[in-house]
Amino acid sequence: MARYTKSVCRLCRRENLKLFLKGERCYTEKCAVDRRSYPPGQHGQGRRKFSDYGAQLREKQKVKRLYGVLENQFRNIFKEADRQKGITGEILLSLLERRLDNTVYRLGFASSRNEARQLVRHSHFLVNETKVNIPSYLVKPGDVIRVREKSKKVVRILEALEGMARRGVPQWLELDKEQMKGSVKGLPTREDITLPIQEKLIVELYSK
Ligand code: SF4
Repeated sequence: MARYTKSVCRLCRRENLKLFLKGERCYTEKCAVDRRSYPPGQHGQGRRKFSDYGAQLREKQKVKRLYGVLENQFRNIFKEADRQKGITGEILLSLLERRLDNTVYRLGFASSRNEARQLVRHSHFLVNETKVNIPSYLVKPGDVIRVREKSKKVVRILEALEGMARRGVPQWLELDKEQMKGSVKGLPTREDITLPIQEKLIVELYSK
């Protein structure tokens, strides 16, 4: 599957926001957004002025990059959100949060969503005691996500758990660090997503 292979820090600089795509490095002074808080490229330091459409597009790109999903996947998730009853923008964010790769990251078993996606694909986790290696799998209240016995010594997982303290676990999840398992207490709400996102702009973009 096609994946973005260039420097992910460029994506943060493009959005002028820390998207936390590089794990521990994002919390150090090496973070590219902290060091060069202007967009990449030759004209990066010029004035930034967006049309309404440009602002909507940027917002969609920001959220897509944050969760590491491709254009088609993102559009399908939007369609699903639009189909459900409620506020489409909030449902969209909730569906993205409930992805297994994001859940693994949020529980602290990976230091970035990219890493979480890889770990899920490599079958390091059980959901309700069943092996699940599909990053887009949607968790639901009551689900228990557990590191497999054979994976409990995987250095990347152990290191991520060590660095977890600074991030904290969102309210919709509960982590049992000793047992290396987490449970889904409820559906993620808008308040659980603390990054500045204007989901309304994404709804406007796709409603044209
Ligand atoms: Fe983004 Fe992390 Fe790179 Fe900073 S270090 S620019 S937060 S990916």
